[in-house]
Amino acid sequence: MRQSELFTKTERNAPKEEVSLNAQLLERAGFIYKNSAGVYSFLPLGWRVMRKIQAIIREEMDAIGGQEVLMAALHDKKYLKATGRWDVDVVFKVAEGAGKEPSFNLSWTHEEIMAEIATKYVSSYKDLPFAAYQIQAKFRNEPRAKSGLLRGREFLMKDMYSFHASEEDLMKFYHGMAVPAYKKVFGRCGLQAFVTVAAGGDFTISNTHEFQVASDIGEDTIYVCGQCGYAENKEISKLKDGEKCPQCGGIIKEEKAIEVGNIFPLGTKYSEAFNLSFDDEKGEKKYVVMGSYGIGVSRLMGVIVEKYNDANGIVWPESVAPFRAHLLALNGADGEYIYKTLQTAGVEVLYDERVMTAGEKFAGAYLIGIPWRLVVSPKIAENKVEIKRRGEKESKVVDVGEAVKMIMFSART
Ligand code: ATP
Ligand code: MG
Repeated sequence: MRQSELFTKTERNAPKEEVSLNAQLLERAGFIYKNSAGVYSFLPLGWRVMRKIQAIIREEMDAIGGQEVLMAALHDKKYLKATGRWDVDVVFKVAEGAGKEPSFNLSWTHEEIMAEIATKYVSSYKDLPFAAYQIQAKFRNEPRAKSGLLRGREFLMKDMYSFHASEEDLMKFYHGMAVPAYKKVFGRCGLQAFVTVAAGGDFTISNTHEFQVASDIGEDTIYVCGQCGYAENKEISKLKDGEKCPQCGGIIKEEKAIEVGNIFPLGTKYSEAFNLSFDDEKGEKKYVVMGSYGIGVSRLMGVIVEKYNDANGIVWPESVAPFRAHLLALNGADGEYIYKTLQTAGVEVLYDERVMTAGEKFAGAYLIGIPWRLVVSPKIAENKVEIKRRGEKESKVVDVGEAVKMIMFSART
């Protein structure tokens, strides 16, 4: 894409009212726009990143048999009334007209909706198991919406629901499929997420598991083993800093962390509420056993920015970067040839052909944080280009063909 056609521009200064680093960098670089506290729009660069993160999630959910759906975002109050969740604090309620009592709520999670849908298709053990997922906007009236994409009042979530004939089958899917798939998702996004044992809560049959990324700005505290990565949320843990890990004898450390995902063995609470049952092999009626699996899709983007940045801006991992290469044409140099060459080679490239100073172009490129920066200028010999990785100091002048190869065959995140 030609940068002169991109409708957003980078800004020199951070927005005054943003306190969180991810929001400051993402707004300055033109990835997101803040509509109100905890409510953001994704702009072209930001949406490209969002789509890459979503593609990773879709691939991994599809790989474990997840079937993608898109459920309604406007929910009749009968759903939450059925499970006693209508009066949960964070639920945004909607009235059908002025002066009327709220009779709907905006989607905040979908256990009820999905359970009811399943009643139409599940009647026998032969209809089980299956899992359905979606990537959709969720609305929660969060009291502390000051951390940019980390805690939105509107945010994108991937939520999956699985349906099983037995608790045993649920736990097989939960530990055997969902946990490994989640680890892959976060790993591919450049994040190390600890599988953390967490509290069960009202609607689960056992402990739940959170996926926690260590970070000083995290709202959670976890105890994590430096050797095997075993982790427990402080809320339920009896472990202490410096103690021996119960799993491997390594040393336990206390860390602040951000929850990027959460999985729940739900049991039959929701199937009971919606009479979601099936006939087992002996013809006996049983309630379906459910699991639910969330990933904070937009929060992930915020966490990546919190982890991958330096004094000059964002340093995107290659797997989620908005473009692979950023080509800057300085001081009237012509970059058309290399722009076309990169495009022909299938490299996603942002081509800065705007008329402006080299200093401004460099500052913008640092801020946006695309993994490979290519520079053509009158000072560099013809058919050569200066190539540099974002986050590294060294640059090299190489042939155009060599630069294309370096970009195409780098598999680093
Ligand atoms: P938290 O404890 O952070 O409020 P939660 O337990 O309410 O999270 P879930 O309902 O399990 O979260 O939602 C699944 C995932 O969605 C979470 O693991 C988190 O990554 C993400 N998430 C939850 N609330 C928000 C929010 N307000 N903004 C952005 N992402 C969120
Ligand atoms: Mg919450």
